[in-house]
Amino acid sequence: MTKRALITGLTGQDGSYLAEFLLDQGYEVLGMVRRTSTVTFERIRHIQDRVELVQGDLLDQTSLLQLISDYRPHEVYNLAAQSFVPTSWSQPVFTGDVTGLGVTRMLEAVRVVDPKGIRFYQASSSEMFGKVREVPQRETTPFYPRSPYGVAKVYGHWIAINYRESYDMFVCSGILFNHESPRRGLADELRLGNLDSRRDWGYAGDYVRAMWLMLQQDEPDDYVVGTGETHSVGELVEVAFAAAGLDWRQHVVQDPRFYRPAEVDMLVSDPSKAREKLGWEPKVGFEELVRMMVEADLCRLQREVRMASEDASTRES
Ligand code: NAP
Repeated sequence: MTKRALITGLTGQDGSYLAEFLLDQGYEVLGMVRRTSTVTFERIRHIQDRVELVQGDLLDQTSLLQLISDYRPHEVYNLAAQSFVPTSWSQPVFTGDVTGLGVTRMLEAVRVVDPKGIRFYQASSSEMFGKVREVPQRETTPFYPRSPYGVAKVYGHWIAINYRESYDMFVCSGILFNHESPRRGLADELRLGNLDSRRDWGYAGDYVRAMWLMLQQDEPDDYVVGTGETHSVGELVEVAFAAAGLDWRQHVVQDPRFYRPAEVDMLVSDPSKAREKLGWEPKVGFEELVRMMVEADLCRLQREVRMASEDASTRES
């Protein structure tokens, strides 16, 4: 029997990698997209004809219920969120609605239609640990979120556990530490103000495998997913500039305007439960990840320069 999976947040970084992974596993993949005036399919263009796009919005309960009852997926991966931490300070209510309550709306749709048959993955985040209570952070580490985004994710995490315990649903939360990829590029990091804050960075392509593994277990559970290594933003910038043949000190200025109102100083995972129970290990290391991202940025830049010069020569002739 072909398994059917619904991914919310298909057009995001993780959604695109997860869709590829599930297609390779022989799944029929449904990708939830919301109506916007501009098309945001850049990351999924290469698989668009192999994925069925279905309309829904985490802010709209009816659309989610309709989707689940029409398509009856075997697995739901809830990746959609307002996921940009700085925006969560300027739009805290919206962030709470999408990133927090949106999880309840999705769980409700599953509970109403088929609570025992549909498996559910919730995208929790290391930002829930915020002002860390212990080092490294594991599944039992108490949360202390430091942004409206982190607070909304804590709500989403606990409502997922609550549905598992209240309705005996197969619900898993993956507490994923930062993961990046060539599909995101480095622009966000270069805008960051605090070069001293430390993160545990991994590769998105590795992390979507952990999401899938969680839903293949006999029992639902929550897992920390990370590399177990921590690096400063400064180190990331240094490796990135070196990969482009540049000295970062001549190009990067620390700008306090980009400091967070409440900083998360240091995150580092203890992924031993995922390693032991899921048999999961990351394959791409920190330096390789940064180099992959720089190479992708350089390719994009070269393409844009080429297109601009072709454009100019067409206008001249
Ligand atoms: P992302 O690139 O920001 O993608 C977010 C996705 O959510 C986009 O597809 C976006 O669609 C969709 N979305 C936003 N609001 C929506 C709404 N109201 N209804 C339906 N869809 C909506 O995020 P990501 O990096 O792939 O991360 C995936 C998930 O993992 C997120 O929940 C994130 O918070 C969480 N997470 C990420 C990391 C990380 O390091 N990347 C770490 C831990 C947890 P549009 O294209 O229409 O905007």
